Amino acid sequence: MGRAADPSRMSDTCIFCSIVDGEIPARTVYETDDVLAFLDANPLALGHTLVIPKTHAERVGDLDADLSSAVFDAVSEITPEVEAAVDADGANIGINDGEAAGQEVPHVHVHVVPRFDGDGGAPIHAVAGERPDLADEELDAIAADVSAAIDG
Ligand code: AMP
Ligand code: ZN
Repeated sequence: MGRAADPSRMSDTCIFCSIVDGEIPARTVYETDDVLAFLDANPLALGHTLVIPKTHAERVGDLDADLSSAVFDAVSEITPEVEAAVDADGANIGINDGEAAGQEVPHVHVHVVPRFDGDGGAPIHAVAGERPDLADEELDAIAADVSAAIDG
């Protein structure tokens, strides 16, 4: 098991920081110095697992590059093992980033939701609202805006 996270980078009021601290119990399945994975307490499917950075960060964009890499390394490492453990046929992997996207716990967490042939669920395409019907020029303009924002 890894070391405790740096207390100066934790939140006193965050439930997932409390899990990292050991103040709240969790069904931990994986731990490194930087990352913790535990079963979701209200699972959408058998084996539903949450992967979190041990230090508090609310939104994906708040993660520094090292922590972001550590979280995704953990996701890619454990997803096949979670699937195997519950005999799943696949998994949806996703993050609710912000309240508008359904984020309830304000500490970045990656959902690994095992999927089973014929389970009646939906692909990740089902998460958004009504699809916009965009012309090519509109898509071009959005791509330019996003690219410019990233170049900042
Ligand atoms: P989100 O809507 O993406 O913020 O999802 C939060 C997730 O955290 C939900 O799936 C909850 O079931 C789960 N959750 C909340 N509290 C706990 C807890 N103490 N232990 C494990 N999972 C939790
Ligand atoms: Zn936190």
